[in-house]
Amino acid sequence: MTKCDVAIIGAGPYGLSATAHLRKVKGLDVHTFGEPMSFWERNMPTDMLLRSGWAASHIADPNQSLTLEAYQAASSNHFSSPVPLDRFVDYGLWYQRQAIPDLDQRKIARVESDAKGFRLILEEGETVLARRLVVAAGIGSFTWRPPEFAGLPCALASHTSEHRELRRFAGKQVLVIGSGQSALESAALLHESGAEVEIVARAHQIHWLGGVVSKTIHFGLGPTISKLLYAPTDVGPAGISQVVARPDLVRRLPRSIQDWLRKRSIRPLGARWLVARLQNVPINLGRSVVSAAPVGGRIKVRLNDASERTIDHVLLGTGYRVDVSKYDFLAPELAQSISRFQGYPRLSEGFESSVPRLHFLGAPAVWSFGPLMQFVVGTHYSSRALLRCVVRKAAGDRVRVGEPLVAQLG
Ligand SMILES: Cc1cc2nc3c(=O)[nH]c(=O)nc-3n(C[C@H](O)[C@H](O)[C@H](O)COP(=O)(O)OP(=O)(O)OC[C@H]3O[C@@H](n4cnc5c(N)ncnc54)[C@H](O)[C@@H]3O)c2cc1C
Repeated sequence: MTKCDVAIIGAGPYGLSATAHLRKVKGLDVHTFGEPMSFWERNMPTDMLLRSGWAASHIADPNQSLTLEAYQAASSNHFSSPVPLDRFVDYGLWYQRQAIPDLDQRKIARVESDAKGFRLILEEGETVLARRLVVAAGIGSFTWRPPEFAGLPCALASHTSEHRELRRFAGKQVLVIGSGQSALESAALLHESGAEVEIVARAHQIHWLGGVVSKTIHFGLGPTISKLLYAPTDVGPAGISQVVARPDLVRRLPRSIQDWLRKRSIRPLGARWLVARLQNVPINLGRSVVSAAPVGGRIKVRLNDASERTIDHVLLGTGYRVDVSKYDFLAPELAQSISRFQGYPRLSEGFESSVPRLHFLGAPAVWSFGPLMQFVVGTHYSSRALLRCVVRKAAGDRVRVGEPLVAQLG
């Protein structure tokens, strides 16, 4: 049976960055599991462009040497913002080869509590005992399908995350639900692939990033004012951007203010470069689906304005709802013992949950550390906070069990 000090589940931006940071601790045995960048590679459309800007798309590393620029120089792949998805995936794989060449790509089937930490059971049956566990398993388990589509086959109604290749809908009639980046970009890609597309969204207007206010601040008022109002993290509107860029501050604010900041920063938005691409796509705002049923190999959808359409497919750009009990690898007793609020774990400093030595990174940390954690740029904060916590606690853990204190910052 293998043993390690820290096991990390996940090899997306958060797991890779956390591993690179914890590997700075001499004598700390860190074992990371997961297929690198798998969610980006398999669950996002091929021709997608990143919504986050250049400065907000580096995966944090302790030496600040694994940047997008360093990747470009090493690979002679040249691109600029908006970053194409395939380049970003390749960047993540390059980061992994540089920082964690010994990544264990096997899947964790089950995690149970153990007297000394956690027992990880691999799909192949092998067991790994870890004193501390970091879950950086992403949002793939949290896809949200509105109840009207429950029970319908994926051939008729599917979530955006189920598609890599939207060209297979060429010549088909597709109804896209939602007004966030994922719904809007999928609609643009479907339209460009030759599908007949229509968008339906509950929202009464589409919020486009980089509108008149933002452009005036960025370009009209000069770089000093722009820098005062917008942090390079690129999350949240003017002013709010500077607050949410400081998770240490966010988590100390009253709960009602934290909730408001979160809603303002991660409401559905579309990148401005989608406007022109969607100009020939009909968009129905203030509408929602009240029923959906299969009809002779197609799907009949009724909206709240009593209109109906029968189309080939409904694409749900309805996003994700965090609920860590949906991580199927967490044993039910362990998942139930984590203190949660609406599915989000309550995390303390160092991203530690109410279960000692169990940490959550990425989107599950949004409720405790703010909206930055939903984006790659949050790795710059989370990896350092985790490192500080682990260094401090590793010393305590080892002293308690009478082992020599070997962990120290390299
Ligand atoms: C369409 C779309 C577009 C987006 N665009 C942007 C953008 O432009 N900029 C941005 O900052 N963010 C964007 N995001 C958000 C993005 O998903 C997150 O920022 C990012 O993926 C978070 O990284 P992560 O490491 O938490 O999770 P992920 O990248 O999802 O990685 C999860 C990892 O966990 C592993 N894993 C899961 N379960 C197991 C298991 N049982 N055993 C072993 N390994 C496991 C997976 O293999 C994977 O390696 C976008 C999201 C979507 C859906």
